[in-house]
Amino acid sequence: MIVEEHVAAFINSLNAEASLLILELEREAHEHHVPIIRPEIRELLCFLLRLHRPQRILEIGTAIGYSSIIMRQALEGDVKIDTIERNMGRYERAVDNIKRAGLQEDIMVHYGDALDVLATLDKSYDFIFMDAAKGQYHHFLELCIDKLLKNGMLVCDNVLQEGSVAQSRYAVSRRDHTVHGRMREYLYEMKHSTCLDTVILPVGDGVTVSRKC
Ligand code: SAM
Repeated sequence: MIVEEHVAAFINSLNAEASLLILELEREAHEHHVPIIRPEIRELLCFLLRLHRPQRILEIGTAIGYSSIIMRQALEGDVKIDTIERNMGRYERAVDNIKRAGLQEDIMVHYGDALDVLATLDKSYDFIFMDAAKGQYHHFLELCIDKLLKNGMLVCDNVLQEGSVAQSRYAVSRRDHTVHGRMREYLYEMKHSTCLDTVILPVGDGVTVSRKC
């Protein structure tokens, strides 16, 4: 945890109670060891969405559909979400859960690797949520910037990896060296990009919020 556990627990205890379906999805994720956004990120995401009011959203990393359902429910009106998942079992669960939520007209789940699917999506978005394999974020960035409208928002989760990204590479285990290096380069690129205005927040597992200039 980047933020001390009791602080995060206190903040989360103030959140409004979730619907039955959302609680069921949280239980499903927990039982099947599926990683989903933490409550702190859920709250931040919903706040940004209500502020920015996007109509076209792209998500990379659907898992079982939890965050895409949360995002759609945070907004009113004509909102469409494209979300990408490469794990067949999770893709099928997401399609099913989205149907249960009655959101199948608004959320389209695409099966496949994000790099392949992104190349086929001929659309622009005003909000992109990146929540897939951390070592691949740098591969997605250029495609995401291309697909993001001016003033569009890009949010990337898990960018500080429990805080390890802020540590020296010698302090992280050998097997994490690659992802540690890649994430550091990614954050440098985000902060020094001429087409993105980015803030890095130590919320949850670390999150970036960017605006396309
Ligand atoms: N956003 C989801 C939520 O909070 O409900 C959680 C997503 S989970 C952290 C990351 C998901 O991204 C996994 O289900 C994984 O299979 C998927 N994933 C990872 N790399 C991917 C890629 N290159 N293309 C498509 N999906 C990918």
